[in-house]
Amino acid sequence: MTRPGSAFAGYDENAPLDAPVLADPAQVVGLLDRFRDGSMSDFTDTLAAVHNCARPIRLAGSSQTVDVATGEVLDSFSSESLPLGVLHRPCGNRRAHICPACSRTYARDTFALIHAGVAGGKSVPEVVADNPLLFVTLTAPSFGHVHGHRKGRACRPRRADDRTRCLHGRPLWCSLRHGEDDPANGAPLCPDCHDTTSAAMWQWHAPELWRRFTIALRRLLAHRLTIPESRLGEVASIQYAKVAEYQSRGLIHFHALIRLDGPARDGIGSPAPAGLDGHALADLVTQAVPTVTVTAEPVDASDESRVLAFGSQVDARVVRDGFRTDDPDGPLTPGQVAGYLAKYATKDASGLHGEGQRRPHITALRRTCHDLAERAARHHDPAHDYQRMGKWVRCLGFRGHFGTKSRRYSVTLGALRRARARWQALHADAVRTGQPLDTRDLEARLLADDAEETTQVIGSWSYVGTGWRDNAEEALAIAAATRAREYDQWKAEQHRTTP
Ligand SMILES: [Zn+2]
Ligand SMILES: [Zn+2]
Ligand SMILES: [Zn+2]
Repeated sequence: MTRPGSAFAGYDENAPLDAPVLADPAQVVGLLDRFRDGSMSDFTDTLAAVHNCARPIRLAGSSQTVDVATGEVLDSFSSESLPLGVLHRPCGNRRAHICPACSRTYARDTFALIHAGVAGGKSVPEVVADNPLLFVTLTAPSFGHVHGHRKGRACRPRRADDRTRCLHGRPLWCSLRHGEDDPANGAPLCPDCHDTTSAAMWQWHAPELWRRFTIALRRLLAHRLTIPESRLGEVASIQYAKVAEYQSRGLIHFHALIRLDGPARDGIGSPAPAGLDGHALADLVTQAVPTVTVTAEPVDASDESRVLAFGSQVDARVVRDGFRTDDPDGPLTPGQVAGYLAKYATKDASGLHGEGQRRPHITALRRTCHDLAERAARHHDPAHDYQRMGKWVRCLGFRGHFGTKSRRYSVTLGALRRARARWQALHADAVRTGQPLDTRDLEARLLADDAEETTQVIGSWSYVGTGWRDNAEEALAIAAATRAREYDQWKAEQHRTTP
């Protein structure tokens, strides 16, 4: 427990960075070289410049900043002038196990984007908060009974006189109370009864199911507003931000914020048509989901076509402001939903294989994706969609984006990244010139479209490589990123405990 006003213990000399690799003399030879040749501070400066990125992209080249109106060259820059002689750029990876630092930036931007679409801010008008908004979860259907965490209850209890076995002789009951992290969660009760092929096919077609769901929802909305579908855009629009989250069985759920706006041409968050509240919108979602299907072609001559759909369990909750609750069935706050989505967005299928955990059902799903791609290659022409499944084995056949949004849901990730770069440039200018930073309309200027830019950067860059020089440098980057996160958490804690 930290007291308000106390110092952050992590910067104490008694709190060394947590990087076991640095205790191995063989691994730190490179770092010792840096001390010897005097490049250690160049390394730490570069590390700070990429915000502790674990695998920065290395680029060589030069660029010039040109005044768009006059053509005057305002500034020029070459990678040779940099401390390590090449330009290091953050990798920008969204996955926490690949780059803790960049995935945090990604999560923060995702949070900002989603939150702005819920409550306004970041150039999104605050009236957006008046429009009906839902937090919707669309699930995968069942492809056979699986073990699962049932919040303290037994997995699949059956009375002694009601215990049957499948045709493979395996029990169709399970009396265990699986913990939340039990690697058995998501595994089929019988791997031979479980339809893993259909599960992989479902995952492959999940993005198309989502697309058809949005079409079905628009159709129902037009009907509800008693206007032809072709004219819906003149009255209303559906905006959403969604993320895909892997469940323990290896299939994704879609979590989405769905908002009803007025016509898209009136801008993000334009007033929704009167007479339709969040509950009415939730009814439309609940009606739309069961109507959505995709008929998947057979993978080869020995296969059959499948009608794929979402699971019957549809959760469409109305988001309200002003409440804070941890009741899973209670109303949600904008901060909570933005937090959920931002957290899901940095996870991927690799999280299903925890430390030292063996999950045969995940391996089976992976193998199935691989086999389906091979079968399709023998049967279909080379351009067929199914053959690409082999490239998505690592994602267990899910080829969609993990986070997507409709065009007018909120500010874009690109605009947030550009704003950060602009802020850094302004900040550096202020430091260099000694002129104070002009904060008037700062956010609007930072988030302004490219078209309003008065200067342009023209450069020529070539890719040199990815990552730091050795494992020890990467370990230092990860340890520094961890410490930076602890510091932010400590600061937030101070903020909460200081009245
Ligand atoms: Zn990175
Ligand atoms: Zn079980
Ligand atoms: Zn069986």
